[in-house]
Amino acid sequence: MLFSNQKQICAHARQYLSVCLLCGILLSSLSGCGAKKNTATVNFFSMNTYMTITAYGKEADLAVEAAKLRVYELENLFSRTLDTSEVSLINQNAGIKPASVSADTYKVISLALEASRETDGAFDITIAPVMDLWGFTTDTYYVPSSDERLAAAELVDYQYVELDESSQTVFLTKENMEIDLGGIAKGYASDEVQRVLSSYDVDAAMISLGGNVAVFGEKEDASLWKTGIADPFDLSSCVGILTDTDISVITSGGYERNFTQDGKTYIHIMNPDTGEPAESDLASVSIISADGSQGDTLSTALFVMGSEKAMQFWRSHQDFSVVLVTSDGEILASKDLVGTFAASEGNEVTFFS
Ligand code: ADP
Ligand code: MG
Repeated sequence: MLFSNQKQICAHARQYLSVCLLCGILLSSLSGCGAKKNTATVNFFSMNTYMTITAYGKEADLAVEAAKLRVYELENLFSRTLDTSEVSLINQNAGIKPASVSADTYKVISLALEASRETDGAFDITIAPVMDLWGFTTDTYYVPSSDERLAAAELVDYQYVELDESSQTVFLTKENMEIDLGGIAKGYASDEVQRVLSSYDVDAAMISLGGNVAVFGEKEDASLWKTGIADPFDLSSCVGILTDTDISVITSGGYERNFTQDGKTYIHIMNPDTGEPAESDLASVSIISADGSQGDTLSTALFVMGSEKAMQFWRSHQDFSVVLVTSDGEILASKDLVGTFAASEGNEVTFFS
């Protein structure tokens, strides 16, 4: 048997060690079984995080190499710290003139703006000046005064982003505005990796971009993938396991990046309304969906909304599934996950509808 039922992939961000450890379990179980099918894995660093892509099938080697190059390509377009990226070009021209961009940049920004409209602004890529102010861009953290917060928050509004489809341009209409694609880039990249892999002779694949996991295809023994959702209070374990395929599992949590000053912890997910780190009653939000871009934007947005609004949002949409872990440790899963999501030992899940 090529695939082991025991293998699990924990879906959470930035935890290179835990991800690798779990992928290590995955790989050793493969080689231990005497792999019949060709398998290939690439590990690399991009978009500020560690990534792993594993594919199974005749053209697995070619496929993972092509997928890696695709991620690098997107990073070069979307990076805010690279002066020559298209996002930098857009930002440098804020309040001055529209910038011509590639189809990828145009599309990812269109998707981001759609998400902003859907979530009533809880997701907003114009959050960049706020990220900068609190020091999250440079890792030199700072708690700003209320005047400073207000000034930065005034530059945040997705409605100040103008797209022109015929000329494929993006214009930030206010001077000093900036966009930051950190809340959508990895989800978009995950969809693109999947598309690239599918263009090769590949039967199945596991994509982990900074802990955001996507699995697709069928394993040789026809059993489904098992993807763990990390416990935000103990990242070495999982709150529960999803048994499914052709899904991406994208998690946002305050534990991913934060700093503490004078006893208060400030996280890297911002509330665009206040220009301050989101004060959510949630510890993590995992979106399960076939669409990685949707998963990425919604995991961030539902985190900002908090548990009540997040559940309400699911009720009125239902084109994705969600697992919420509250700051009290409660696990709430949307009802459509009955049968595919199970809490791990010692945990209890409440399905909501
Ligand atoms: P991560 O990328 O760390 O896995 P998220 O997907 O939740 O986590 O994205 C957080 C990133 O998105 C931040 O680092 C920042 O770049 C950006 N961001 C923060 N708050 C928001 C927001 N309300 N809307 C859109 N993007 C945001
Ligand atoms: Mg996100």
